[in-house]
Formats: sequence, structure tokens, C-alpha cells
Amino acid sequence: MEDYNDLFRMRHTAQHVLAYAMEILFPGVKKAMGPATADGFYGDFELPEGVAVSLDDFQKIEDKMKEIINSGKDMIYQEVSLAEAKKLFQDNIYKLEWIQEIDARGEKISLYWIGDENVDLCAGPHVGNVKDVKAFKLLNIAGAYWRGDSKNKMLTRIYGTAYPSEKALKEYLHNREEAEKRDHRKLGPALDLIYFDNKSPGAPYWLPKGLIIYKELYNFWSYYHEDHGYLEYRGPLVNRKELFEISGHWDHYKEHMFILNQDKHNILVIKPMGCPNALVAFNLQTRSYQDLPYRLADVDMLYRHEDAGALAGLFRTYEFNQDDAHIFISEDQIESEYNNIIDIVEDFYNLFELQCSFQLSTRPDDFMGEVETWNRAEIILKDILTKRFGQDGFTIKEKDGAFYGPKLDIHMKDCLGREWQMGTIQLDFQLPGRFNSHYIDENGNRQTPILLHRVIYGAIGRFIAILIEHFSGKFPVWLSPVHAVIIPISDAYSAYADKIYQVLHDVEIRTATRGLRITKDYSSDRFQKRIRNAQVQYIPYMLIVGENEKNNNTVSVRTRDGQQLNNIPLENFIEILKNKIRSKSLEIKLDA
Ligand SMILES: [Zn+2]
Ligand SMILES: [Zn+2]
Repeated sequence: MEDYNDLFRMRHTAQHVLAYAMEILFPGVKKAMGPATADGFYGDFELPEGVAVSLDDFQKIEDKMKEIINSGKDMIYQEVSLAEAKKLFQDNIYKLEWIQEIDARGEKISLYWIGDENVDLCAGPHVGNVKDVKAFKLLNIAGAYWRGDSKNKMLTRIYGTAYPSEKALKEYLHNREEAEKRDHRKLGPALDLIYFDNKSPGAPYWLPKGLIIYKELYNFWSYYHEDHGYLEYRGPLVNRKELFEISGHWDHYKEHMFILNQDKHNILVIKPMGCPNALVAFNLQTRSYQDLPYRLADVDMLYRHEDAGALAGLFRTYEFNQDDAHIFISEDQIESEYNNIIDIVEDFYNLFELQCSFQLSTRPDDFMGEVETWNRAEIILKDILTKRFGQDGFTIKEKDGAFYGPKLDIHMKDCLGREWQMGTIQLDFQLPGRFNSHYIDENGNRQTPILLHRVIYGAIGRFIAILIEHFSGKFPVWLSPVHAVIIPISDAYSAYADKIYQVLHDVEIRTATRGLRITKDYSSDRFQKRIRNAQVQYIPYMLIVGENEKNNNTVSVRTRDGQQLNNIPLENFIEILKNKIRSKSLEIKLDA
């Protein structure tokens, strides 16, 4: 934690240095606000009439910042009266607005000085001296409304970051560059996986190759859950609003719902979540305690309305499918069912070598239901997590549970160290009651079940976006849209290429498509060019055939990483490929 504070102080100080440099270089500039953030800092400025700042000015601004840092001035704290503060910032409407607010809250008005040269309204904390800003860089520039409100004036926001050493800064910049290169919004279309069209906002086209990845992930999920006692079903996409009145979503979630109201007396809603339909399906029969846990899974399409500005490739869309499940349990099944689900989470995330961690969110102030039930559930959940991961193996976020029950969120880290919130397992003491759900217990009495909502992938499209970036487009064999491409050295070997194509085509193996996914490249491109084409599509295996291969019924295999093995009997290669697919191995390397 101390580390984070030090970093925070340094970044906050770097922001003051930026503001000072801006005032020197662009006289008349007004600083509005500027905080430290999770990976740097930013400053918002109102530029003087006729002045524009662009990326081209960054060198100049950074040079000035360096000068200020090298001057070695102390960061000095000062408290002032309301009148003094108003006088000091009389030309800056933004600071005057802050000052009024601070005063209205009855708080002290404080300043931070860089030496005796530059002052800003600020509560700190800061490092002691500007020299403590060890390594920094300006990163980006964008427009931003004062206080994020589009009714206000558009300001200029400059982003930067600061680190305790040049080495740490370099590493951050490297990861950032790498993340940009891997951005699924570029890589997805470049690999013909997805396409976004501005006539279809908030929803992707799943192109044939992208849909293969989708289907592989879905099939794996579907078979796996079938093996683990889940029943898959599908509910209606469009429902009358009355269904969401029962569930409470109409009151609490309406602004995120797409509402169809051509017919005023029959308002229809595209569902934002599948819970109400699952409850209706559960209620169709009288369930007994012997039917529990009753696990109903679906990957139904959902629509959630977001601000258009919040849409971000596959990361945030209007339309998505999530791998949902609603599990009806009795109270004494909480522990075992949670353990079952955590097992599933670990199986899924290990498959992609994504590290996951767990965060428990407890009872919020506006909770519904009985305190005792909440307390019992929270004790059980803490106990499960402690047993599995040890005292320090998970985090607790107090009062951050949903109003209907505590939740366990699953976070994961990708290979660039970025953290994502993925799956969630939520206990719900409310919805079954609202829907009058019940089961008959051992003694013949009616009981209300507890409902568990859980997702593992989360939105499948978002999960694929993360995989595209995590693997940099180089998918493991089982997810690759093409497993192998056959490349004859010249036309003379097309007939042999056709023959092995047919053999591979007829191999019996269960995939999400009809079997092995093999293509041939007989194009008129030079041989080297055809190799290159396969490499830029990240096809795991290139099967190169010429005289030698034809005479011996073999293939020479080249991996997308450049490993080459000559003259492998075709049968052997088929076995290797089948194993890679069945084992879902991340490794494409061949054993010599
Ligand atoms: Zn400050
Ligand atoms: Zn649900």
C-alpha cells in the first residue's frame, strides 16, 4: 500500500509540474483539474483563444517539465482563508467553483506551491520536492468536458504517467505499446474474425473465422456443463414489461433496457438479463429437495443500453451473449455449490493460462432480506475462500454486494499484467420470493430456494477480445480458425496436395466444425509469399509438399513460429494434430 501511496504522490506532483509548464508555455491558460490515476495522471486546461496544443507540442512541454523538476523546488503546503483563495484565483472560474464548494462543505482551503513560484488549489498529498518525480512521460491528448458534463465547456486534457525509475517507465511504455499492437479492434478485423459497422452500433459482425472461435468456446462450455450436472435451455429474447416488473428490473434497470413500444398497450422489452426467464422455467414443475441443486444454463442473447461513448469494440457492446447459469439450491448447499463453481472457474481459466483471483463483496447498506441469512452466507463464503486460498488469498470489498445478496467476483490477469473483471457468482435471496418459487423439503413443507447467478466467461465476445489480445492473435490449435494449410512447392505437386487434403478432411475428430480445418494454397504467388501469407494469419501449421514428400507419403511441417520438421509420415502428423486439439494445448511446438 505504501508503494501505491508513493506512486500516487509522485504522479500527483508530476501533474502540478505539467500545469506549471503549461502556464509558462501558454500564457493565459487556465488549469481546471488534474488528478493522479491508476496508471498515471492527467490535467484539464482551458487554452487561451486561438491557441491549440497537439502531440507535436509534447516534446516542448516535457522539456519545460524537466527544467522545473531539475530546479529542485520543494512542494509547500499552505492553508488560506476564503477571501485569500478567491483573490489568488480571481481569474480562474474553475478554481473559484472548487473554492465555493470546499467552503460550503466547511473544509479548510489549502494550496500547494512549487517553491514560491507556482501555486494550485490542492489538498495533496505530494512528494516533498519536485525532484522526487523520477521518470515521466506525456502520453495523449483529448477533449474533456468540465466535470464530465457535455453541457459544460470542452477543455483540453493531457495524459501522462510517472514512475520511480526510467526502467519501470520503460516497461510500462513497452506493455502499453504491446497492448496497442494487440488491440482486438485492429487485430480482429485484420484476421477476418470480426467487423464493426457504424450502421450497426454496439454489435459486431462475427465473420466466418471469428464465429469458429465463438463456436469452439461455446461447445467446450456446453459439453463441460453437461458433464457437470447443468441443463442447458433457451428463453425468449423479447418479453412483456410485466415480467421485469415482477423481477424489479423495470424499476431499477429501465434506463439500460431497449424498449419496443409500437403498441402502447403491450410494451415489449429486449431482455437485459436472463434471470426472470430462468425463474419462470423453474416454476413450471413442483420441485422437490431431491431436484436441488437445479442448474439451468443458457447463453441467450442480451441487450443492454449504454451511453454511445462507453461502447468499446467487443469490450462494451449493446448486444452480447453471456454464459449464464441460474442454480436453485437450499441454504445447506451454498458451500458445496460454491466449491463446484470455483472448480469450474479454475478449470476454464487454467486452460488459457489466465491467472485468476477472487473478491468477495459483502452486505450493502440498502440490502433486502434477513440480516441473519446474509451473515450466515457471508461466513460460509469467507470460510470457503479461506480454506481454498488461505487468509490472504482473496480480497474483501465491504458493502459492495448486490442489494439481493453477497457476490464473489473473479478477476484475472492477462500476459500484459492487465486486470479484468470476468466471472461472478452471486447469491440471491430475493428473486425466488418475488416469483413465488418453491420446492418441497424432506418433511413435505414448501420452502423458498436460494438462487445462484453465475457466469464464467462473462460476455463471450468480450472474452474473445481478451483472448485475441492475450494471445496476440496466435490462438492455440483447438481455437484456430484454420488448423493447417497445405502449400505445394510448385504446381507439379498439386495432385499429391489434393490427396493429403482429402485424407485430412476425412479424419474423424470432434470439433465445433465438421472436423479438421484444413485449407490449400495453390495460388500463383511465389512459394515464399505463400509461406508469408500463412504466417500473417497465424495459421499454426504449414504442410509443405514436394518431390520428397510425394515419394514417401509424408509432409514437411513448419509452425507459425518457424520450427521446421521434414518428412513426417502423414499418419504421424494427423496423430500430433489430433492430440493438440483434444488436449487444448497452448503449445504448438512439435516434438522432434
Ligand atoms: Zn495537487
Ligand atoms: Zn441472473
